[in-house]
Amino acid sequence: MTFPWKLFPKKRKKGQKQVIYKNEVIKSARVRGKEYLNYKGIKVNQRTIGEPCRCRSCCFDKIPEGERQEIFDRFYALETKNEQDAYMQALIECSEISRKRPRVDQNNAKPKSKSYKYYVSSSSGKRRVCKTTFISINEVTVDRVRRLSK
Ligand SMILES: [Zn+2]
Repeated sequence: MTFPWKLFPKKRKKGQKQVIYKNEVIKSARVRGKEYLNYKGIKVNQRTIGEPCRCRSCCFDKIPEGERQEIFDRFYALETKNEQDAYMQALIECSEISRKRPRVDQNNAKPKSKSYKYYVSSSSGKRRVCKTTFISINEVTVDRVRRLSK
């Protein structure tokens, strides 16, 4: 691993340009899921695909490994967080479920709840996966997905 900011001439060591450059390197690496050294000089590992899901349909295992890698690479090829968020948003479908319970009076009726469908998209098409697989393949946090679902 190389540290691009170390390639700068020594006389500009504490220069403004170098600081900006270093910030950009870190920001870019973080968005792209690459290995980088953080501000404290601690190594942050490259992102890799997470754990398989344990749902009934075993959707993670049904996706061939090469395809999982393709989905992962496609996500991290997006250069900004906004692009990644927009990409994920397009793969989350939200629908409202209204439970039909005719004999329950209006006051006790349960509020409508929302249900989400998650998809992954690769060269062989779009397929539905569970939330765990969606998070695992894109290696994103539950919080980020929750925020996007709103
Ligand atoms: Zn699953």
